[in-house]
Amino acid sequence: MIETRKGMLLVISGPSGAGKGTLAALLLERDRSFRFSVSAATRAPRPGEIDGVHYHFMDEETFARLVAEDAFVEHAQVHGHHYGTLKSEVCRQLEAGENVLLDIDTQGAQQVIASGMEAVSVFVLPPSFRELRSRLEKRGTEKPEEVERRMRNARAEVERMGSYDYVVVNDGTPEEGAERLWTIVQAEKMRTTRYQPRLED
Ligand code: 5GP
Repeated sequence: MIETRKGMLLVISGPSGAGKGTLAALLLERDRSFRFSVSAATRAPRPGEIDGVHYHFMDEETFARLVAEDAFVEHAQVHGHHYGTLKSEVCRQLEAGENVLLDIDTQGAQQVIASGMEAVSVFVLPPSFRELRSRLEKRGTEKPEEVERRMRNARAEVERMGSYDYVVVNDGTPEEGAERLWTIVQAEKMRTTRYQPRLED
């Protein structure tokens, strides 16, 4: 059997606090065929974050220059900072047949969906608004008014769920959520647009 595979662009998105980052990390651990696309970000690194690994950290001026140079697949302002997916992180890898994972906010995901790129989009849904609020509060990183803002955003984001290819309800353990995502990925790898094994005589 001669196997040639086309790379998959997997977009994981959802409201802040839905758990998309955890699901993305579990998928990367389990499936070595995926590469994480390191985004550009204008926020400061958190303790333990490494430039070029977690994000390409940069100032607003550099980010604006990259926007002007059309260097991004998508970009958005999220919670007061700019984030963007660099074409240089995505395009070459896909052409080389590698799978690329984007963990991005819903504005960015909508841009990728609207762009007509051949992407697989997954919306991560929290079990309830009450649970989402509790997760945001437990994190303790946001002030009460910021939690309220994210809750309002979440309601609007959930309304656009229908524009994604798949939804993963993250209502169990992280491993259960990761298993659902894994199922989607396995099926998408066998799509004939990406995978056409050729039979030998
Ligand atoms: P954090 O600053 O907590 O790492 O990420 C904040 C939010 O920005 C998360 O929802 C994350 O998914 C999103 N994000 C990270 N990188 C990108 C990106 O390249 N584009 C967009 N649109 N959102 C991103």
